[in-house]
Formats: sequence, structure tokens, C-alpha cells
Amino acid sequence: MTQNFDAIVIGTGQAGPSVAQRLTAAGMTVAIVERKLFGGTCVNTGCTPTKTMVASAYAAHMARRASEYGVSVGGSVSVDMRRVRERQADVAGKSSTGVENWLRTMKNCTVYQGHARFESPREISVGADRITADKIFINVGGRATVPEMPGVDQVEYFTNSSMMHVDFLPRHLIVVGGSYVGLEFGQMFRRFGSEVTIIEMGPRLVQREDEDVSAAIQEILEREGITVRLNAKCIAFSRRGEEIAARVDCTAGSPEVLGTHVLLAVGRRPNTDDLGLDKAGVAVDARGYIQVDDQLRTNVPGIWALGDCNGKGAFTHTAYNDYEIVTANLLENDPRRVSDRITAYALYVDPPLGRVGMTEAEVRKSGRKALVGKRPMTRVSRAIEKGETQGFMKIVVDAETREILGAGILGVGGDEAIHSVLDVMYAKAPYSVIQRAVHIHPTVSELIPTMLGELQPLV
Ligand SMILES: Cc1cc2nc3c(=O)[nH]c(=O)nc-3n(C[C@H](O)[C@H](O)[C@H](O)COP(=O)(O)OP(=O)(O)OC[C@H]3O[C@@H](n4cnc5c(N)ncnc54)[C@H](O)[C@@H]3O)c2cc1C
Repeated sequence: MTQNFDAIVIGTGQAGPSVAQRLTAAGMTVAIVERKLFGGTCVNTGCTPTKTMVASAYAAHMARRASEYGVSVGGSVSVDMRRVRERQADVAGKSSTGVENWLRTMKNCTVYQGHARFESPREISVGADRITADKIFINVGGRATVPEMPGVDQVEYFTNSSMMHVDFLPRHLIVVGGSYVGLEFGQMFRRFGSEVTIIEMGPRLVQREDEDVSAAIQEILEREGITVRLNAKCIAFSRRGEEIAARVDCTAGSPEVLGTHVLLAVGRRPNTDDLGLDKAGVAVDARGYIQVDDQLRTNVPGIWALGDCNGKGAFTHTAYNDYEIVTANLLENDPRRVSDRITAYALYVDPPLGRVGMTEAEVRKSGRKALVGKRPMTRVSRAIEKGETQGFMKIVVDAETREILGAGILGVGGDEAIHSVLDVMYAKAPYSVIQRAVHIHPTVSELIPTMLGELQPLV
């Protein structure tokens, strides 16, 4: 039987449920479809569980360092992986249940559980059900890429999703991929007690960042006993008895790494290949991302794409912002756009990296005149007092307009402190506004004005 609604939302990630809430509140009937876990990646296999595990890893790390602070824990520190997993599953589970209950009790909202597929630009099938609407919002997110590396099908491997079920300590975890996801898992499992090797194909970790950031992060990880193998050009896997051999062919070091478990963290792909987009005529790019304009409209009138599947962002806050943009345009006559958004994200290694705007390398490439300020965390009182002085903060400003172009804080509290810079960027205010602001002592943020008072030409 076909049922008609005013709107259909596909996916219950970071944008879909809020879209459903706003549309139903505006008097529309909405069908929302979820094929797996309510809340999507962030809640179930991304931000929430990983940051919960990062917190467990931090506790273990600080317990091992306790004597440095004059604290004795009595005996050696060990980690109960079952408890770590339970805590993670509990936090993520509550969040997922919260989203499900919210949707199921939402007035004028009908929840469908199953795989949604376009049958035409206005019709979706979910199993035997057929639903139609004049407005369709795609919020299908993405999943881990499994690269076609030789031997990958002959060994067991984890992705970010299956890692959520790990309730034991891998003796030696091989992490393939030296970017955001791989580094967070690598450091946390090292802190839980695993031997960890991170294999990266490129010449440095987190290659999107400036070279000084990559180098500092590598140093932080190596200091904790993580082995980093760069320039791993021809990664391949094979079984060696109980162990897994990963061929790395690096320019330096042993050509092979022997470990007990493998985590693949080499990127993500959009969940658009099994959505029947061809039947709706919705255009995707070469990598499968749905093509959208600045207000997230696809090429088919009445169909929008939000979140990771449109390739305009890869974060929870960008997916949520997509919901704000779409509903502002649809319901408030407010022409909000993706291009109003300033790049901002964090990498949750410890200490974390908070990043906004352009990197120094991007500013150099743009050819504009700029000023740069940099300060090591060894010269930040709050970091010294906390005994966490690794990393540095850096800011780049336009020498002519005096606006902030970008900044990064790799250091304790960097994920929070970076927001004072971000807000000044949104205000399009000159950097002197924050330079003259009186920040609270002792905080990491208080050194941002100081750093801005010591800017040097970017040469
Ligand atoms: C390990 C890891 C850690 C991360 N940490 C952070 C972080 O700290 N901060 C941050 O901002 N971001 C983080 N991210 C990224 C963040 O999780 C994503 O950017 C965010 O979840 C994207 O939300 P979304 O709404 O686009 O899609 P998703 O959250 O992926 O939701 C999509 C939903 O659509 C459903 N779906 C897909 N296809 C269909 C279909 N055909 N029919 C019905 N339902 C369908 C899926 O089951 C899913 O529930 C992390 C990601 C990973 C993998």
C-alpha cells in the first residue's frame, strides 16, 4: 500500500531527526526511515563511543602518571576492557535510544525501519511499503572504506563500527591509516595496554594539517610507545599462524609488521550506492557524493541532501548545520548557505587539536600577505600547572584586512579554547578585538591575545 506524506527523511543521523522535528512542528506529516541504528554514525560508532573510550584511555594514562602529581595509586595500572566497552555502549546506547524515542513520540511523524530506496523522484520503497512525498531529505551518511589491498579478504579486520564490540585487549593492533580516526583509536589502545603500529601511506600523519602539526602529533604518539610507519606504499596482508603480517615496504625500517589485529581507518564513502538514486535522477560526483548547491538542493527539485553524503562536510556539526540551512531556507525565508560556514573541527588525540579556518600552508598557497603567531604549550601557565605541556598554538591573520584566516591549538584544552578564535572569525572582526580582550587566568585561552601581540610576517 502506498502512503503519502508531506515529507520523507531518509536516515536518522545528525540532520534527519531535527528536520523531522521542524517540519512536523510546522504542521507537516513526515515519514522518517532508518535501516540500522537510530542516531547514525556519530551516536553509535563515531563521536560518542570514541570520545567515551578516549576518556577511559585518558584515565589510564593519568593513573600511570599519578606519581608525577604526588598521587599514589598502589600497584600497577590495568584496564578492564569489558568495563571500558560497557561504559561506551551505555553512553552511546542511551543516546541512540533517546533519538528513537524522540522520533517515535513525535506528533505527525511515522517511523519506518528498513532500507529506503528511491523508486521515482517522489516515491520511496522500504521493504514492502511504498511512501511518497513532494519533499525528500536524504541524510544517509557514510561508512568505512575497505580498500582493495592485497590479502585484505584473507585476514579479519576491524573498522570503526566493529571496534565498538572489542571487549578484550589486542596484543598488537595494526592501525592502517594515519588520519583522524586511526590516530584516535591508535592512541587509546596504546593507553589501554596494546602494542600499536600505525601504518600511513603518505609521508606524514594527518596530511591535511601543517607539517609542524603532523610532526608534533607523531612525536606525542611515539613518546607513548606507538610505532609510526610512513610512506607505506604497497600495503598487503597475510596470515602468519596466529598473527597477521602487514607488508609496508617503507623506505626505512622492516618491510613487514607482525600484529594480532588490524583496524582499517583509511577513509569513508557515502551510503549512496544502494539508494536507487538513478531512479530519481539525483546526480552524484565521481566518488558517490550527492551533488548539491549552496542551499543543499540536489539537481532534482524537491530533493535535498544533508550531512556526510553531500561531501560538503564530514562532521556532526556540519551535518547539523545542514539541517539549520535547509530549514531556514524552507521555513524562515532566511537564505542561509553552506558557504557561510567556517571550517572547524577537532582531532581527539590527547592533547587534542582544535582547528579553524585555513592552515598556514593554505594561506601561503593563496599568496596573500599574512602575519603568523605561534606559542609552545610549555609557555602556557595552565598547561604547566596541569603537567600537560605538549603541543603548540598557532594563528594566521590577513596583514591587510586584519581578519583571522586560521588557527590551530594542539594542546590541553585546545578543542575548547579554539572557539574564542572561531567566534571572532564569524564576527568578521579584526584580530585586535581578541588581542585586547581580557581572558581569564589561568586558562589556555588567555594566551591567545598574547600570541596575537607577537605576530610576525609570514615569510
Ligand atoms: C570513528 C569516528 C569518530 C568520529 N568522531 C567525530 C567527532 O568527534 N566529531 C565530529 O564532528 N564528527 C565525528 N565523526 C564524524 C561524524 O560521525 C559524522 O560526520 C556524522 O555522523 C555524519 O552525520 P550524518 O547525519 O551525515 O550521517 P550518519 O550519522 O552516518 O547517519 C546516517 C544514517 O542513515 C542511515 N541510512 C543510510 N542509508 C540508508 C537507507 N538507504 N535507508 C535508511 N537509512 C539509511 C544509516 O543507518 C545512519 O543511521 C566521527 C566519525 C567516525 C567514523
